[in-house]
Parts: sequence; C-alpha cells; structure tokens
Amino acid sequence: MVFDGPYRMLIGGELVAGSATFDVLNPATEEVIAQAPDATPADLDAAVAAARDAFPGWAATPIADRKAKLVALANAVWGNADAFARLLTSEQGKPHSEATGEVMGAGYWLQANTTLDLPETVNEDSDDRISITRHVPLGVVGAIAPWNFPMILAMFKVAPALLAGNTMVLKPSPFTPLTTLRFAELAKDILPAGVLNVVTGGDALGPWMTAHPGFDKISFTGSTQTGRRVMASAAPTLKRVTLELGGNDPAIVLPDVNVEKIAEQLFWAAFTNNGQICIATKRMYIHKDIYEPLRDAIVAYARTVKVGDGAEQGTQIGPINNKPQYERVLGLIEDAREKGYKFLLGGEKADVPGYFVPITILDNPPEDSRIVQEEQFGPVLPLIKFDDLDDVITKANATDYGLGASIWSADEDRAYDLAQRIQSGTVWVNETQHLSPLAAFGGVKQSGVGVEGGLEGLLEYTNAQTLVRKKKPAFA
Ligand code: NAD
Repeated sequence: MVFDGPYRMLIGGELVAGSATFDVLNPATEEVIAQAPDATPADLDAAVAAARDAFPGWAATPIADRKAKLVALANAVWGNADAFARLLTSEQGKPHSEATGEVMGAGYWLQANTTLDLPETVNEDSDDRISITRHVPLGVVGAIAPWNFPMILAMFKVAPALLAGNTMVLKPSPFTPLTTLRFAELAKDILPAGVLNVVTGGDALGPWMTAHPGFDKISFTGSTQTGRRVMASAAPTLKRVTLELGGNDPAIVLPDVNVEKIAEQLFWAAFTNNGQICIATKRMYIHKDIYEPLRDAIVAYARTVKVGDGAEQGTQIGPINNKPQYERVLGLIEDAREKGYKFLLGGEKADVPGYFVPITILDNPPEDSRIVQEEQFGPVLPLIKFDDLDDVITKANATDYGLGASIWSADEDRAYDLAQRIQSGTVWVNETQHLSPLAAFGGVKQSGVGVEGGLEGLLEYTNAQTLVRKKKPAFA
C-alpha cells in the first residue's frame, strides 16, 4: 500500500475527515506537509461511544483471537515499513535509518506482546472453597502519545491494552499525527469497528480526553508537567492512570573504562534522536582521572557527526521536532552562555531553515546550573567532573526525576552494585536505552506512575477480580 489521500480519523470503523484541519510541518524545512483533522468534542464523544459499544464484544473475544489481530497489525506495519519510515522522517525529523528502526520496533512491540498471557492465581483450594484471582479488562482506554517516537510509543499502549481486552481511543501529538493516522487506516481493515479509534487535534483535545467520563483509564506519555495535569484531570472520575513522564538520566563513567572505545557509545547515549528521548543521558558524570581525555574523545567524535535533514542520505542527527521545543533548547543554551559556562562544541544558533540546533557540549558546568538540573530533551549535554563515588551517587539521585540511569565500568560487578543505589525505574550497566516489550519500564518519583511493558505493564490494563466459590454450600 502506498500512503496517499487525505488524513482522516478512525471512529467506529469509519474514516472521518472532521470539520476542520490543522497544519503539520516538516521540522527540517518548516514547510507544511499535510493537514490533519482537528477533532471537535462531538468527534471525541463519537470515538468514546464507539469504543464503549465495541468493548463487550472485544472483551469476550478469545485471547488467542485478539493476539492474532495484533500479529496482523504487526504484519501490516512491517509490510508498509518504508512508507511509514519516510512519513515518520517528514513529520518527526529523525534520519530515515532511525525512522525505519522505530517502525520495525513498532511492529515488534505488537507481535512480542502476544507472547504474554493474563495469569490466574489460585489463592485457596480447600475442602471449603476455591478462590481465584483473574484479570479482567478495564473498559475504554484513552491513550495520549508524544512526538519523539510517535509510532512505537503509541504501540507501547495499543498492544497491551487490546491484548487485555480493552478498547481504545488513541491521540497522537499534534506535531506528529500522520504516521498514527496511516496506522489507523490499516487497523480499520483488521480490527472490529470501534476497538481502536484514532483522533487528532490541537491543544484542547488532550484535556477533553482526560476529563471525559467515558474513559476508564488514561495512559499518557509526555512531560512531567503535563502528567500532573493529566492526573488532576483524571481524579474526579477516578480513572486509572499510567504516566510515562520525563527524566534527567545521569550516566556515571568510572575511571577504568577504555576512553577511546567508549566515547562513541557515550555520545549516542545522549544524542540519539537529537537528544529527544526520555531515557537519553542528560548529564554525564565522568571521573576526574579520565575527564580530560574522555571529554576530548567525545568532542572529537561529535565533530564527525552529520546533522541535517533526516531525508538526506548520511544524516545522523535531524532537527528538533517542533518550535516550542526548539525555543526551549535555545533558552537553555542562552542561559549557559549568560552564566559564562564553557562550550566545548556548538552553542551558536544555526542560521538555516528548520529547527536545527548544533550539537552542543558543555565543559563541567556547576551542579546547580539549569542544564544539569533540567530535562533539556535536545542536543545539549553537560559533562561533569567527579572524584567521589558516594558524592556522585548522591548527585545522581538529587532530582525529582527517576526514569533511567547508566553506569559505565570495566568492573561490571562493581557497576552492578552501584546501579542498585540509583533511584530510577531502569539502570543500565555498560549500555543505555535498551527496552523490551517483555520487561517493565517506568519512572519513579516524578518520572511516572506505573509501568509499561512486561506482565506488569499488561496488568495495568486490567482489574484484578477475585472469584470465590464455596464448595459445600450450607443450604445444599
Ligand atoms: P507533552 O507533555 O507536551 O505532550 C504529550 C502529549 O500530551 C501530546 O499528545 C499532547 O498533545 C498531550 N497534551 C498536552 N497537554 C495536555 C493536557 N493538559 N492534557 C492531556 N494531554 C495533553 O510532551 P511532549 O513534549 O510531546 O514529549 C516530551 C516529553 O515526554 C519529555 O518530557 C519526555 O521525557 C517525555 N517522554 C517520556 C517517555 C516515557 O516513557 N517516560 C517517553 C517519551 C517521552
């Protein structure tokens, strides 16, 4: 299938143009590439009603059949991988190779979730009674996705929610709605009407969803700031929430690493997807014994990296995805300049169309600087010198965030011990950003509530129900 034709929402098994549209830009050129439907409250009501109507039938569908539908969705994604990847590059900005990786991963998430099953626990099986706890679907899930990995992060929600027997209304970010809308076209021919609905719109649509009484759960991925609003808005109807939020991931590099071999990996820990990853390394603590040589090796490698339009051959880093984020990142650079911090690379504003920020690396800014304390979510990395392990662990933990962290050392056991002292949902030793559909992923502290992935993530789309059956009724 070659993607063409207008972008339409999927509501109750029908593709719906909506009464208005909004522009979608290519962040590499700032040119308008498409119009997406701008949903009204009535469109949202229709999507919720369709999901609610579809729920009993989908929940009663045998899990093996639901799994078969997820595998069919995966195959549809893989079968259109190139078209998805091109579209993803044009709306998100990431290089074509990375876009392809995201699309293939989106299919993998759909498929791999089907290896999971909903457990039943026998709590008691005595002469008197049998007591079993099973897991039943919640109902209608509202899924809200961000712009940094629009396809795969949507599938983080679609796969487990549908597998567990829920129906869904999915909303992509207004900056990256296009791949999700094309996915909806494929889903229309695979899933029963109303099981998955996709709505797109501007800033008002998310709050309409979180306040809507027709949802049983909101699964949200985005910033911590918005996550707080989502939780508050979900409270009046006590919706379940899963919140996958921001991070300020530390990397701690011990003095026994091979400086030359590790520099490239550390660079990409921070700069993959232009730093726009919730689990990107956002502050890099390097032991003083290797600080200068490692710093120089990272900067030397950074100079070889090609920044440009993701659609061009050879591009390794694209633009920032959108103007608000572009301005936020420039604001952090400006702050660093005003405070007189030392720039090893970058720092200037690129005078070209598109939301391009040059790779920027800062030399040992103070611990209380904004660039160390805040989530930059862009191509700006502070390198920080440390000499005491206890002190650096304290600094790593001295944040309201707790999403990911990494420890780098030739002594893996020592690194593993240190990893257990870090307060975050995931800690990696000698790598970063490895996620699996079969492993729980989530943030502690203000990086999130709940998890996605693995059995734990699947169970967040269910209610535990305990059934107790008396074996010898008194009236028998
Ligand atoms: P964002 O919070 O601005 O937006 C996320 C989504 O929420 C979008 O679809 C947006 O339209 C919607 N939204 C905005 N305001 C809303 C409101 N009041 N109520 C309901 N929905 C609303 O986040 P973003 O800028 O798209 O994404 C970047 C952030 O997401 C970063 O902080 C990043 O760390 C975080 N993130 C976290 C994870 C994770 O798994 N923990 C993954 C990716 C990104």
